[in-house]
Amino acid sequence: MRSGSWGSNWQFADFSAELKTLFFVEKTEQKAHMIYNASSMMMYLILIGPTILLGMLAQWWVQSAYQKMSQVPARISGHDAARRILDANGLYDVPIEPSHGVMSDHYDPSSKVVRLSHDVYYGHSMSAVGIAAHEVGHALQDARGYAPLVVRNLAVPVANFGGSLASAIISLGVFLMIFGMFKLASWALLLAVIGFAAVVVFQLVNLPVEFNASSRAKDQLLSQGIVSSSELPYVSSVLTAAAMTYVAGTFSSVMNLIYYVLQYAMVSDRDG
Ligand SMILES: [Zn+2]
Repeated sequence: MRSGSWGSNWQFADFSAELKTLFFVEKTEQKAHMIYNASSMMMYLILIGPTILLGMLAQWWVQSAYQKMSQVPARISGHDAARRILDANGLYDVPIEPSHGVMSDHYDPSSKVVRLSHDVYYGHSMSAVGIAAHEVGHALQDARGYAPLVVRNLAVPVANFGGSLASAIISLGVFLMIFGMFKLASWALLLAVIGFAAVVVFQLVNLPVEFNASSRAKDQLLSQGIVSSSELPYVSSVLTAAAMTYVAGTFSSVMNLIYYVLQYAMVSDRDG
């Protein structure tokens, strides 16, 4: 479960590609609002400033929880925990592979493989078993046909396309405004708003998927005897912190969408 826009070095990586797009979108936005005028700059600071702070806070929280819980030992490795849960649920044919890259943990629904980063795969800690179980939680969702996961997987390409389209178009819109072509710029902004809306829809659909994977993870860790009920809060602290990065990311996307809707309203009011 990766959430994107804060340039972090640690996150889960369920949908890293989508969020790379978001990161790119944000970079483009930063360029865009600088060129425009002072009032939109102010609006940007008021709407987007808090989301940047919240994102940094969420990132700090997840990193500190992860580090802390890496020091608390577990009886088995992340790999063994994942294997045990998969087997107990009849998913013998879902392989677990070590993945390259720090914090690149994810479940790949197209090839039905759980991939765990080195530290999680081999680690014997509350962080390792918690993250491993979370990724297996996505495999369980997939096997059970959990509807929000199906919707999320359908939304991924739409959100990717929408996000890329929006960032390209915002650059174009700024260019048009510089040359005083406000009518065309307003059409461009409208398209960008639609693109950002697709990203927001994806993130909103993704939230219950992530919360549900974590709650499945905790149930399974307990019922398979991998963690005791007194150890469960350790695992919860990592998974809750990780979930907050999604909440922060969604909040950021929603505020960006509002910002561009307002920009659209302002530009389409002008003549040109
Ligand atoms: Zn996830």
